[in-house]
Amino acid sequence: MSKVIVGYFIYGPDNGGIFLDGAPSDLFCPKCGLLLSSGENYAPENLHTGRIYPFSFTNDNRPICSSEFVSTALTSDPDGVSFVGVSKDKDLFLVSPRRKVTLDYARRKTIFANKCNLCGHYAEIAGASPGFIKDASTIDPNGFYRTDVSFGSGKAQAPAVITGTRLKEIIDVKGFLGVYFKPIFLE
Ligand SMILES: [Zn+2]
Repeated sequence: MSKVIVGYFIYGPDNGGIFLDGAPSDLFCPKCGLLLSSGENYAPENLHTGRIYPFSFTNDNRPICSSEFVSTALTSDPDGVSFVGVSKDKDLFLVSPRRKVTLDYARRKTIFANKCNLCGHYAEIAGASPGFIKDASTIDPNGFYRTDVSFGSGKAQAPAVITGTRLKEIIDVKGFLGVYFKPIFLE
C-alpha cells in the first residue's frame, strides 16, 4: 500500500537569532520558565540574526522569512498566513500561519514529558516528523498551517510549520537556500 502525502513540515537553516531574547519576563511561567499562552503572539521589534535567508529559523525555532518568501507565500495562500516585521532595518518577517492543525500524536508516538503543575505546559515535546493525519481535507493543498502543539524543549518550543502539497511545490521551485520538507501522511 502506498502512503498518501497530504502535506509537509517545512524546515530551514538556523539564522542564529534568538526570538525570545528580550521578551518581558511576565510572558513566562514563574515556575518552569516556559512561554505562557499569553505570550504566544509576542514578536521582537528588532531581531538580531547572524545571516539573512529567504526562509530560516531562529535558534529557538521561530520561522523567519524575507520579503521574497512573503511574495511567494501570498500568491498561494493570501488569507491563511500573516507576516510580522521583526526588524527595523533588515528584511525579516515572522511567518505566522493562522490555522492550527491537530496531527495524530498517538500514531506518531509523540512524547509529552515533564508537565508543569502551574502553567500546564510540557517542558519536552518530542517527535513531530513524519506526521500522520486522519482527515486529508484538513490541509488545503495551497495552505499554510501550524501545529497545535509546540515541539521542542523549554524556551525553544514552537509550533511546527506545515504547507499543503501544492504550496510545497511552489516553494520548491524557488530553490530557497537550505529549505527542505518532511511528509505528513494520511493514515
Ligand atoms: Zn510552568
